[in-house]
Amino acid sequence: MRKLIGKPTSPGIAIGRAFIVSTSKLCVEKKAVEAAEPEVTRFQRAIETSKKEIEQIRDKSVTQLGKDKAAIFESHLLMLDDPELMTATEDTIRKEKVNAEYGFHSAVEHFAEMFEKMEDPYLRERASDLRDLSDRVVRTLMGEKRADLSDVTPGSVIIAHDLAPSDTANLDPTQVSGILTDIGGKNSHTAIIARTFEIPAVLGLGDITKKVQNGEFIVLDGEKGEVILDPDEATINRFKELKKRDEETKAELETYLGQESISLDGQKVALLSNISTPKDVLISQKYDGEGVGLYRTEFLYMNRSVPPTEEEQTLLYKEVLSKLNPKPVVIRTLDIGGDKDISYLKIPHESNPFLGMRAIRYCLKNREIFETQLRALLRASVFGNLKIMFPLITNLEELLEAKAVLESVKDKLKSEGIPFADKIPVGIMVETPAAAVISDTISRHVDFFSIGTNDLTQYVCAVDRVNETVYHLFDSLHPAVLRLIRTVIENGKKAGISVSMCGELAGSPQVIPLLLGMGLTEFSMNPASILRARKVVRSIKLSECKTLVDEVLKQETAQGIRDCLEISS
Ligand code: PEP
Ligand code: MG
Repeated sequence: MRKLIGKPTSPGIAIGRAFIVSTSKLCVEKKAVEAAEPEVTRFQRAIETSKKEIEQIRDKSVTQLGKDKAAIFESHLLMLDDPELMTATEDTIRKEKVNAEYGFHSAVEHFAEMFEKMEDPYLRERASDLRDLSDRVVRTLMGEKRADLSDVTPGSVIIAHDLAPSDTANLDPTQVSGILTDIGGKNSHTAIIARTFEIPAVLGLGDITKKVQNGEFIVLDGEKGEVILDPDEATINRFKELKKRDEETKAELETYLGQESISLDGQKVALLSNISTPKDVLISQKYDGEGVGLYRTEFLYMNRSVPPTEEEQTLLYKEVLSKLNPKPVVIRTLDIGGDKDISYLKIPHESNPFLGMRAIRYCLKNREIFETQLRALLRASVFGNLKIMFPLITNLEELLEAKAVLESVKDKLKSEGIPFADKIPVGIMVETPAAAVISDTISRHVDFFSIGTNDLTQYVCAVDRVNETVYHLFDSLHPAVLRLIRTVIENGKKAGISVSMCGELAGSPQVIPLLLGMGLTEFSMNPASILRARKVVRSIKLSECKTLVDEVLKQETAQGIRDCLEISS
């Protein structure tokens, strides 16, 4: 039995078997070989092994995920039977006298680039299938067994060096019981998605991938960051007991379903959901979300090789808006960059991606992508209660430019006779210190603010939100962050616009009274946090919350603030 402590990231208890996922990037080297024929034979064997692997995954997927999801593996098998691809690989190995890995990789790249240039979006997407296939075959050639997220066994605890937000968004929460990684922490988008899916997770464990064997028994506590490998019977029983208690707490919270979110002295608040895909609407409804306060649309752009078309996006936004109508849905325009890289969007490599070509900056430079999204949003607006939100605004010029693009898209739609809703509120994420400080100025140009405490904390404290070595400095209760939050709420109120919060702080039960005391009445959070938040709201008085604000703002340190809020460190 071995105990490890990592960063508590997504609460809950998991008991399951290790499923190691290789997410390290493949580096395919070109190596000269003496004789080509043995390489050709090695290549042919790797193809046969890969086919067997894919057939197994396909069969499992048909039963577990349905025929649609399994179809992808059918197309992978067809590709491995493609004579052109096979001949191109063997020709390269023979003519250039190179290793099989390079031969196959370069043949795949040649065809993938051809696909990428095609008009038909369906064919363009085949480029990423081909590359995925190349990854499997090359790993087989290198003697690595590829364990990927598509063939995860039920009840597995995923073990990875790191998981990209796109990998996590693809996980099936009914199959995965927990997540453990070497690097990362609770402020990354991977962490946010794990919490939405209610998958217990401990990240930043250092070298868990080296310490654990595939199939090894593991228990973990995502609230405490505790992980136990190969636990003894007493420990397993202790974790089973904790899991049972968790389930009882959840059942108790269900009594708040359908109740009003109102304080003891009559202050009504709105508790909304943060979602990343249309599927999450179901999770929001399960927890009685009062609308969507943040729809992170960038996830629509992931796990594919071309951006979603106007048509595709219109349908997806329509689905979300109509399912929730008349509840409000705040849709944030593409927030790409930072920890969310999408290779086909071709964001240049940057040494500080969170300070670089991200979010609204990318959209204003890449008008076609931005305008396509805005057209889709406007077209979908007639199906529900849409609000449009721009991320990462740092100055008024950016906001005015984004609004001007929106107006020009509206004009175009009008001239084409395409309908859209009359009044669509437009707002911004207040998530940079610059926007917070000039929120009085900006408030005159928007219909609402939504405070993004994740990025606000990152930028105020100068701490990269995904860097676990400076994790201890990322503190949304830093007095500077709280003062800025208060400024934004006050400036919004003075201007008569609505102010909400959609950063992770909004879902913290101990902090909600403080935020309510500061005047915040709209909170958007991970849907699984809504019922606990409602319980808090229904048990407090606004008058007491106001006194708490005075007390908290007198504190000189985050620790002093934590003591006031009775949060243990
Ligand atoms: C935030 O920054 O607080 C926020 C809600 O946006 P994201 O976490 O997607 O950057
Ligand atoms: Mg943000």
